[in-house]
Amino acid sequence: MYRTHTCGELRIENVGDEIVLSGWVQKIRNLGGMTFIDLRDRYGITQLAFDENANPEMTAKAREVGREFVIQVKGKVIERSNKNPNLSTGDIEIACHEINILSKSEIPPFTIEEDTDGGDELRMKYRYLDLRRPQLQRQMALRHKVAQQVRAYLNNQNFFEVETPVLIKSTPEGARDFVVPSRMNPGQFYALPQSPQVFKQLLMVSGYDRYYQIVKCFRDEDLRADRQPEFTQIDCEMAFVEQDDVLSTFEDMTKAIFKNVLNVDMDTPFKRIPFSEAMAKYGNDKPDLRFGMEIHKMNDLVKGHDFVVFDSAEYIGGICAEGLSEYSRKELDKLTKWVQRPQIGAKGLVYVKYNEDGTFKSSVDKFYDADQLKKWADGFNAKPGDLILILAGDEKITLHGLSELRLEMGSRLGLRDKKTFVPLWVVDFPLVEWDEESQRFYAMHHPFTAPKPEDINMLDSDPGKIRANAYDLVINGVEIGGGSVRIFDQDVQAKMFKILGFTKEEAENQFGFLMNAFKYGAPPHAGIAFGFDRLVSIIAGLDSIRDVIAFPKNNSGRDVMIDSPSPVSEDQLDELMLQLKEEEKE
Ligand code: ASP
Repeated sequence: MYRTHTCGELRIENVGDEIVLSGWVQKIRNLGGMTFIDLRDRYGITQLAFDENANPEMTAKAREVGREFVIQVKGKVIERSNKNPNLSTGDIEIACHEINILSKSEIPPFTIEEDTDGGDELRMKYRYLDLRRPQLQRQMALRHKVAQQVRAYLNNQNFFEVETPVLIKSTPEGARDFVVPSRMNPGQFYALPQSPQVFKQLLMVSGYDRYYQIVKCFRDEDLRADRQPEFTQIDCEMAFVEQDDVLSTFEDMTKAIFKNVLNVDMDTPFKRIPFSEAMAKYGNDKPDLRFGMEIHKMNDLVKGHDFVVFDSAEYIGGICAEGLSEYSRKELDKLTKWVQRPQIGAKGLVYVKYNEDGTFKSSVDKFYDADQLKKWADGFNAKPGDLILILAGDEKITLHGLSELRLEMGSRLGLRDKKTFVPLWVVDFPLVEWDEESQRFYAMHHPFTAPKPEDINMLDSDPGKIRANAYDLVINGVEIGGGSVRIFDQDVQAKMFKILGFTKEEAENQFGFLMNAFKYGAPPHAGIAFGFDRLVSIIAGLDSIRDVIAFPKNNSGRDVMIDSPSPVSEDQLDELMLQLKEEEKE
């Protein structure tokens, strides 16, 4: 028997017990005749004591072990004279009478502790060691727990877990596909699913009216902290439902997860904000509602005072940062530089200080008198002591700038506490989006998303104005999930493909199987997918989804531990009937 207990289990009640423990050596200390080892496993740390006087041979052996050796010890639980209140096993130690080295370890490349000295790349290369650290273990445990909560909730609601294939044909989520060559069908390729979208819709046609799957999806996109080439979705679909049914099912799921994992209460129904309102008030479609500081459009208030910056701007808007009227010239200059960075692209920043004494000081005093500035301030419901920050220019760029500025000021004012969670649904997204470069419409969600019934008459005349029955779940400014009511009427689907610029043949070629299936009795259906990694990372209070994925890829999509991607042999290429293009030589 390798162990009778784990390293996190023994307590004062066990004093006198003969036990066996196995684990990794965290630390060794030699103090005179005594040697102490901290033994670690997933469950905790237990102190082992070796007494040279009682057993010189065994103690000599204990002194040979190094960090991260795997050992087994036998001994008796005794009360510690020097108790450690920070350790769950801190009241006891093991008086050992036998030690066996099960496996040696080289000196690990970084310390395996809560706060390690290892840099990012090194930890990724030795991810299996990084995963030994308590922090990573907590994150993996949390991920496990969230997955269990999801399953428990959905099983209880009669959802059916069905696996869908990984070697498929291109799916319509709008990113680049990863492709896999087929040896048995030379010259042909599978695509890895960007999501199980079409399969879950087919399952609805099959009559499996509540489906879910915790599933890997693959998208060949440029990577960021919250993106990985392969990531996990909680993918769901329901038949005989309307938008409200989906929203209430999944806000209840979200509520249950937060309650059972974090003991955080969320009030349902969640707030619902139309896309257009989210854009106008927060400058983006995933607003962080932990704080207000709404954006106000100021065009009507500010135009016509000979200030050419405002007079010539398509859009002028601002935010009010509470209590920051004392910002110094230097701080405002810095903030101006901040909004002028290419990521934000504002030309400049106009400020109005509503001083404590009720007077105003602004960077546009020359053009606007105190009465006018007071009107601006009233528009924001500003009080003495507040600071109004204004951007002007192209509408899209300026709203984006204000959105970023709002988040930045929210952070500076400490309004974005990671332990506060504010969920909302953003609804009524546009059905399609016009792309100037390719001069065509793209589906904002995907081509199977249903228009709002009241907008359907614009399908032929003004598709850009149509709103979709599509929804996103947003928590703290992060898009956690998104979905839509689906088109189940063949005519509407054909029109949608046409708007998206598919010829009949192209649509047939790519989605013929789905169109065909719809000929055999398709129920009304709708669904949603949650970004599982993002959900877990937000619950964990982390910014990067990498920290909640056991074996993530780095920013260039590489797994530096297994060294992938990597070249394949000539034989493999031959078998696949593939030939690599010669690199262009200079
Ligand atoms: N398949 C969609 C996505 O991955 C979600 C959905 O519409 O259910 O975003």
